[in-house]
Amino acid sequence: MSHIETDLIHSGKTFNNTPAVVPPIYQTATYYAADNAVDYAKAATEARHPYFYHRHGNPVSSQTAELIARLEGTEAALLTATGMAAISTAVLSVVKAGDHVVAQHSHYSAANILLKELLPQFGVEVSFADQSDNASFDKAIKANTTLIYLETPSNPNLALTDLAYVGALAQKAGITTVCDNTFASPINQRPGDFGIDIVVHSATKYLGGHSDLTAGVICGSQAVVDKAWKKLLSLGGALAPFDSWLLLRGLRTLSLRVRQINENALALARWFEKQPLVKRVLHCGLPSHPQHGLAKQQMRGFTGMLCVEIDGEDEQEQFARAQTVLNHLRIFANAASLGGVESLAVHPASMWGMHHSPEQKQKAGINDGMLRISVGIEHIEDLIADFEQALAKCSD
Ligand SMILES: *Cc1c(COP(=O)(O)O)cnc(C)c1O
Repeated sequence: MSHIETDLIHSGKTFNNTPAVVPPIYQTATYYAADNAVDYAKAATEARHPYFYHRHGNPVSSQTAELIARLEGTEAALLTATGMAAISTAVLSVVKAGDHVVAQHSHYSAANILLKELLPQFGVEVSFADQSDNASFDKAIKANTTLIYLETPSNPNLALTDLAYVGALAQKAGITTVCDNTFASPINQRPGDFGIDIVVHSATKYLGGHSDLTAGVICGSQAVVDKAWKKLLSLGGALAPFDSWLLLRGLRTLSLRVRQINENALALARWFEKQPLVKRVLHCGLPSHPQHGLAKQQMRGFTGMLCVEIDGEDEQEQFARAQTVLNHLRIFANAASLGGVESLAVHPASMWGMHHSPEQKQKAGINDGMLRISVGIEHIEDLIADFEQALAKCSD
């Protein structure tokens, strides 16, 4: 096996039976005009046949999935239409009525709805652990626990879960683990290396990297992925051919992008630490992060995600100032999503307000002055200058 930088460029070409350098897009819903009924039946019943019907698979998706499995160090992977399709398909391929799930206080908002509303509708009970406290996972486990659902670093408060600890705990108890690795990207963290069974991503974010597609991926053993594939046939979240192709194209530059993003985010976080108007900076790469030691143990880079808390006399002023800063940023767009080449910033207290009570917001580590920032690959001096002028507007 070559180095990952080389594999990112050269894998995914075996279906390219033309002399072209880049694989073709198979822009079709149905792939197989069979010569005879026996061949047709064989294609229809074979698991993950890449030339049958779009929900079963398609050639570029198979190649892209293989490359992502290589990145995560898992046996296999399965692409889905969105990150949430990956999460719901993975979770529903593990749990059944009567089971109990352990999750965390802090998760991506739509994953929270799945855990708090959807699973209970199907007779699955869910408890929530404090991810920064290993013992709270031990305490939450019951006799009927079949799944521990993790996300690290978590959205938006960048809390970490000790993957080796929870991985070992779950293995000992025979419980399946799923980890959302979207915020880290496989360049910075591979949960499978710490005994986690299933890794899911919103490939819309770092994997795609250009904010021009939505996709998800489920990574794990061949058996796990085959099981998820069967569920995906019914749940319907298959990835379209063009988006699979765009995702493969985006992946070519993953290691370069993530390296630059890691560097920019750390430099910006260090600069924020020196700004009087910034009360607190949260970035896994800063020694001031409450779990920096754990970050160094399980992450190879610290991602482009950071949170800053704008200071103020009271919560109202913090809320108003965070909005002032956001309204004056020129390079950072105030837009949902993250992990692209362009820098984005959002105000979680406004976004999360719709789905969460004040207590839930507090538990999830969200406060009124907080801005969540996704750092891109622009020049670092321009990124700093943008925040410098926007912060100055608070004292105008
Ligand atoms: C965006 C995101 C998701 C959902 O992904 P979609 O592609 O939008 O469905 C899940 N988890 C995390 C951590 C995310 O940031």
